Parts: sequence; C-alpha cells; structure tokens
Amino acid sequence: MESKKVILVTGGTGLVGQAIRELIENEKPSDEVWIFVGSKDADLSILDQTESLFEKHKPTHVIHLAAMVGGLFHNMSHNLDFLRTNMHINDNILETSFRTGVQKVVSCLSTCIFPDKTSYPIDETMVHLGPPHPSNFGYSYAKRLIDISNKAYFQQHGCLFTSVIPCNVFGPYDNFNLQSSHVIPGLIRKLHSKMEDGENKFTVLGSGKPLRQFIYSKDLAQLFVWVLRHYEDVEPIILSVDEKDEVSISHAAEQIAEAFEFKGELVYDTTMADGQFKKTASNAKLRRLNPNFTFTPFSVAIKETVTWYKENYNHARL
Ligand code: NDP
Repeated sequence: MESKKVILVTGGTGLVGQAIRELIENEKPSDEVWIFVGSKDADLSILDQTESLFEKHKPTHVIHLAAMVGGLFHNMSHNLDFLRTNMHINDNILETSFRTGVQKVVSCLSTCIFPDKTSYPIDETMVHLGPPHPSNFGYSYAKRLIDISNKAYFQQHGCLFTSVIPCNVFGPYDNFNLQSSHVIPGLIRKLHSKMEDGENKFTVLGSGKPLRQFIYSKDLAQLFVWVLRHYEDVEPIILSVDEKDEVSISHAAEQIAEAFEFKGELVYDTTMADGQFKKTASNAKLRRLNPNFTFTPFSVAIKETVTWYKENYNHARL
C-alpha cells in the first residue's frame, strides 16, 4: 500500500494558509495528512528550528507560504529586513526540503514583485526582466530568488520545487491592521468603524481609479491544492482572476459599502497618492492547464468577507 503524503503548510496561520486549512477540513482527503504551522511552531528564518520542524513532521510535500509581509510604509523603511528575513526563510525551507528528500515544494511569489516598468499583461516569463518597484525591492528580490533557487535545485539535483504567483488576495483571516493592511481589509475595517460611530460619509484614499485583480482566498486555496497535486513544472504559474475581471478601487469600495448596507456617501480624497495605475497579469497559462476552474464572483466574495469580519472582528488581526 502506498504511504500517505504528508503536506506541511508554512504560514498556515495566515490569510492564505487558513483558507487552505478550511478547504482541507471540508474535503478530508484520505490519502493525505496536512499539517499547518505558524511562527509559534518554528521561526523559519532560523535553520535549527526549521530542521527540527521537518524532523518532527517528516513532510513529503511542502506548501511554503511563510514570509515577512507588510504594507507600503513598512516595506519602504525596512527593505533590508524584508530582503534578509525572507532570504533566510526561503533558503532554510528549500535546503531542508532538499536534504530531507521532500518530493515537491510549492512556494509563493507575488504579482507585486514584477518589473516596475513593463508591458501589460504581465506573464510568467517576465519576473526577472527589470528592477521591481523601489518601494519594496527587498521583498521582491527575496521572492524572485525563490524562482532562481527552484531552477538551480532542479538543474543540480532534479528537485521539483516550483512557485505560484498570486495577484492581490483577500478574505477571512486577513490582516485588518490599519497601518499594514492591503486595500480591501483596510476599507472593510474603516467602514465598519465609521458605521459603528453612526457616520454617513466614508472617505476612500486616492481617486479610486487604479485597477487591480483581486483573488478570493478560498479560490486561491483551491488553486494551491490543484498545483500541489497536478502542476509538475519548475516554472512559476500566475494564479489570478481573468484580465476582464480587473476592478477599480472605487468598484471595490462600492461593493464593500453594499455588503455593509451602507446608505451614506462615498467620497474620494484625491490629495492622496494612487500608486501604480494597473498591474494587469495574464492567467492564460492557468486557463490552459485548468480550463474548468470557476472563480467566486467578486461581489459574493466581498459579501462573505464582510460577513466574516462582522462576526469575527473581536479576534481578527487588527
Ligand atoms: P499573512 O501575513 O496572512 O501570513 C504570513 C504567515 O507567515 C503567517 O502564518 C506567519 O505566522 C508566517 N510567518 C511570518 N514570519 C515567519 C517566520 N519567521 N517563521 C515562521 N512563520 C512565519 O500572509 P498571506 O497569507 O497574505 O501570504 C501568504 C503568502 O502569499 C506569502 O508568501 C505572501 O508573500 C504571498 N502573497 C500574498 C498576497 C496577498 O495579497 N496577501 C499576494 C501575493 C502573494 P504567524 O501568523 O503565526 O506569525
């Protein structure tokens, strides 16, 4: 009888990790054992702790999500920390996986590490074709090095270490901290507290015009599991909604307002910076390899996330 796969998920306590955990708890696969770990289980930037974790769980497969992540301001002022911590974490995971005979590692890049000056849509062949945006170059180069390491482990040792490139993720268990959150959880938290204060005017920072692709964490979880089970290439794969489903920040704000049944006025503070106008990524490779995948409609995903926040904000990451 073939022995069970043991799948270790690093970053298992985060936004994406929790979505994978819920999916697996519903699915209950009989031929797989899933282990979800956070930073309390091991500080993966330290080799000894990484090795002890692998010794304890003896994974055959790894989904590697753990990373030092942060908002724009934190990135800008700590590029060295983002670079070094993430390089250490990634090197410890890949080298320990290699040394202990892990059969497959799926690591996580991000569409925000692509070259700053580029043509659109962005695709998987363009990761290294120019410097990343200067605000988060430490995070970006550490992530890009995962792809370089994957290719080197394959060339030298034949390892199946691969990576995925998600667009902006949102969903339950997100980081709702006002200093370090991404746009959707930030808007959800702010509108929720405005409504609790009985205010009927909600200000969105910036013009609301920039376009973004957002993936619901529950959809991303399904795609991660599909990659683990079926994607057999070292080259990265973009996990994103379609180009036609790119939405403006104002559309996202309106959907959040609707989900809260906010009857007041949305205003845009155009004195605040907008950031890049768009970062459109192509999911053509994903569509070719997994043609039947259906994404949750944006409005439904926003509604579910808002409902989760209303029920859980007392113990959400604030
Ligand atoms: P979260 O911030 O929600 O979670 C980060 C996870 O990493 C947590 O489980 C945290 O553990 C763990 N972690 C951080 N530092 C360490 C460490 N030194 N040792 C061990 N574990 C550590 O992140 P997301 O779920 O949003 O992101 C998951 C992956 O997806 C990351 O690699 C990120 O770069 C990538 N990504 C995210 C996007 C997004 O929009 N959120 C977009 C594209 C890519 P704990 O909480 O227990 O401290």
